[in-house]
Amino acid sequence: MKKIWILACALAAAACCEAPQEGAQTRPSEYVTTLMGTQSEFALSTGNTYPAVALPWGMNFWTPQTGRMGDGWAYTYNAHTLRGLKQTHQPSPWINDYGQFAVMPVRGTDKLDEESRQSWFSHQAEMAKPYYYSVYLADHDIVAEVTPTERAAMMRFTFPESRESGVVIDAFDRGSRVEILDDRTVAGYTTRNSGGVPDNFRNWFVIRFDKPFSAVELTDKPSSYKAGSQLLKPEGGKSAEGNHAVAKVHFTTRRGEQVTARIASSFISAEQAVRNLETELGTDDFETVKSKAQARWDEVLGRIEVSGGSVDQLRTFYSCLYRSTLFPRKFYEIDAEGNPVHYSPYNGEVLPGYMYTDTGFWDTFRCLFPLLNLVYPSVNAEIQAGLANTWRESGFLPEWASPGHRGCMVGNNSASVVSDAILKGVTPAEDVEALYEAMLSGRTKVHPTVSSTGRLGHEYYNTLGYVPYNVGINENVARTLEYAYDDWCIARVAAKLGRTEDAAMLEKAAQNYRNVFDAETNLMRGRNKDGSFQTPFSAYKWGDAYTEGNAWHYTWSVFHDVEGLADLMGGKAEFSKMLDSVFVVPPIYDDSYYGARIHEITEMQVANMGNYAHGNQPAQHMIYLYDYAGEPAKAQYWVREVMNRLYKAQPDGYCGDEDNGQTSAWYVFSALGFYPVCPGADEYAVGAPLFRRATIHLENGQKIEIEAPANSPANRYVGKMSVDGKAQAEPFLRYSVLKDGATVRFDMQAEPAAK
Ligand code: CA
Repeated sequence: MKKIWILACALAAAACCEAPQEGAQTRPSEYVTTLMGTQSEFALSTGNTYPAVALPWGMNFWTPQTGRMGDGWAYTYNAHTLRGLKQTHQPSPWINDYGQFAVMPVRGTDKLDEESRQSWFSHQAEMAKPYYYSVYLADHDIVAEVTPTERAAMMRFTFPESRESGVVIDAFDRGSRVEILDDRTVAGYTTRNSGGVPDNFRNWFVIRFDKPFSAVELTDKPSSYKAGSQLLKPEGGKSAEGNHAVAKVHFTTRRGEQVTARIASSFISAEQAVRNLETELGTDDFETVKSKAQARWDEVLGRIEVSGGSVDQLRTFYSCLYRSTLFPRKFYEIDAEGNPVHYSPYNGEVLPGYMYTDTGFWDTFRCLFPLLNLVYPSVNAEIQAGLANTWRESGFLPEWASPGHRGCMVGNNSASVVSDAILKGVTPAEDVEALYEAMLSGRTKVHPTVSSTGRLGHEYYNTLGYVPYNVGINENVARTLEYAYDDWCIARVAAKLGRTEDAAMLEKAAQNYRNVFDAETNLMRGRNKDGSFQTPFSAYKWGDAYTEGNAWHYTWSVFHDVEGLADLMGGKAEFSKMLDSVFVVPPIYDDSYYGARIHEITEMQVANMGNYAHGNQPAQHMIYLYDYAGEPAKAQYWVREVMNRLYKAQPDGYCGDEDNGQTSAWYVFSALGFYPVCPGADEYAVGAPLFRRATIHLENGQKIEIEAPANSPANRYVGKMSVDGKAQAEPFLRYSVLKDGATVRFDMQAEPAAK
């Protein structure tokens, strides 16, 4: 607690110096808005997030639910009514949810199903914090509050004077159960999921109220059940089970009477749900749970202190850091002996050890995992142990997990995630060999039911050196480029482990990106089996040979050999000109591959940055490539443009899908002044720090101090940079230097530095 206070005071001092008009915000969690990115819809994503109230990497998140049961857009900022507070595990609307159920306080005997129980609400009577959410449900005259632990939560409902007060527990359809355990306790399970689970998948929940029920209702057909028609005595042994089980518990309440509900769940068993409840909530009251949750957020967010910027920038920074520390989520629980144990979403068994889930590596390999390796390595050590378990339990590393293997995106970028952690010494020693075997194994096979796991087209890639355009495997240029980078990552691990033969083979394969480079257009282009390039060809065509992007976006996916790519283009000047062109060419597009304009295209168009598409992941490292071309001032210019124009701590605050921390971690790194262009490498490319001062508190007790005393909106260019007082000629920093603590000083100025 003491440490947090010191930090809080430091932040308070910074805040009142920089923005006295805002008053003293004292804790990093107070800068976060969880509503950032929630004003999204199918056609245009401003983040596609929901206001997750959860602990960092917590097993269960909660969200207010505006959408209908099953709707991936669970909470949309423009909606007027809420249907419940939903326990959710959803990583993205496109992947949807699993193990979800909802709790909704109501007034009125006729309020049970999700249509009749919905209530108007206003953002003016809503508080959305990482550690706390509250809302006034106008049609019921009830205030609902929720505050989380990792696997449990406390809810508090403030009721009006009514003999018709109640709480609906909706276990959702597709197979569920509710049961009255005693006159204050409801238990049950939901099986709802969106794929990627064994047949025995269940999320067991238990809910204990602090006030006895006056009556209960149970149904397995809420659509045809007449609410209020079958009031039962609140006794144990009553249950409903079927397609869609719902319980409603009734209370008679005084005006302002508060009723709390203690809720926990488990993917393992009903008994484990009770254990999670008792372990995590104990005898804590609502305020204690809330203050512990806030302290945990302050500890995690406070690992990076920033000052010397506007309050808006602080809000954006900490809202992005919050999103960067939610996923992947814990999918393990703690057994009676205090050891980690997990229900395997791969084989349905309950097994010892760690498991995390709900991330797509196509997105998050780029900078979310590098952020974990730098700032939160102990968390990534558990994630890596979980990946080794995934390999043992399924024979594959995941590419998209939620909770088991899901078919989504391309590449074999688990190799990047696994390699970067091994190379940075984060991975538990006992898992390194297994993970190396897993990476090698994944090069030459495809998951039998999830074709985006493993390497689709590996037969071609491993013989021709590319996945051909005309053999019926889509997004073949994207696959080739990512496989080549992934091979480079595995090569680094092979070298570290002394597997010299493997390393040589993989190093060679890492050059396969050259095979889809077309010298005529200076772009990456689909290549037929006979060696000819695809025709016709449009650099503006999305999809087809690429994944959610076009040739302008994917040509840069040579993270590991930027100089080699520049050579192919005819040298650094030509390379730089090609980068310039991305921002200069008009935002025209060809969407014929999809048959309609996908939201990522629209997000590129509306940003007014030409064909630069920051709203999707393939482009997100691109700006930093100017550093490799000897044009760091252009990187500095564009990094600031993107931070200033495309990120805001408000409901429409992202420029596309946030994607489980990746797009947020871009801002976190960029605001600190550097970015991991090539995970697996020791190097960070330098951009333009946003704040005058930042301190990263490393887990080893060391600190990275980042000083930019002359920083301002006008002074976006780096004149000189030094590390521990030593002038740096090149715009790069090294992990191996920073990890032991360092002071990085940027001399900021209004004009680009002379070359
Ligand atoms: Ca995306």
